[in-house]
Parts: sequence; C-alpha cells; structure tokens
Amino acid sequence: MKVLYCDHCKDISIKSRLETDTCTSCGRAARSVPYSRPWQYFAGSGILLVATAVLILAPIADLLFRLVIFGVALAVALVFSSWSIQEMRSRILRTMQEAQSREALS
Ligand SMILES: [Zn+2]
Repeated sequence: MKVLYCDHCKDISIKSRLETDTCTSCGRAARSVPYSRPWQYFAGSGILLVATAVLILAPIADLLFRLVIFGVALAVALVFSSWSIQEMRSRILRTMQEAQSREALS
C-alpha cells in the first residue's frame, strides 16, 4: 500500500504498490508521502486474528454460531479498517497543510 498526495486537489489517494503514482480524483501525477498505520488498523487485524483463532480452536459444533462469530468479526474489522483510513487521511492532510503554511511564511 502507498499513500499519494495530489497538489492540485489537495487530497490524498490510497493505492496498492503496483499502481501508478497518479491522483484518483484528477488523474494527474501525485507524489507519495510517508505514512504510519494508526492503532485502528492493528485493532482491525487483531480482531480478525482472534476470531480466526477462536473458530479454529474452540469446539463449536453449531455452524450458524460459527458464521455469526465470523460475520461479527468481519463487520467490526471493516469498521476499524475504514476508520483507520480516515484517520490516516486526516493525519496526512494536517501534515501537508502545516508544511505548506511553513513554506508560505518563509
Ligand atoms: Zn488530483
């Protein structure tokens, strides 16, 4: 995964490493910016891991109950995943704005 910042849209795009460095909104060249994964990302991955471990290790015979556990874990993981992307986006935008206002002052 990589995060690209577009100077034209003042927005970021999140892409996979194999994709080209272009903005998803306007298609112009965007530059990749460093990012760090927020805690929500690890929380989401952790929930999926725990749910998988429970499904493998726990002696639950009821298939429906297993599906419910899996469904709930997946839903919670998705919430954390989109939350982490939002958190990353606002964090990067804040950093870029700060950098730009520093440039404007100097
Ligand atoms: Zn753009």
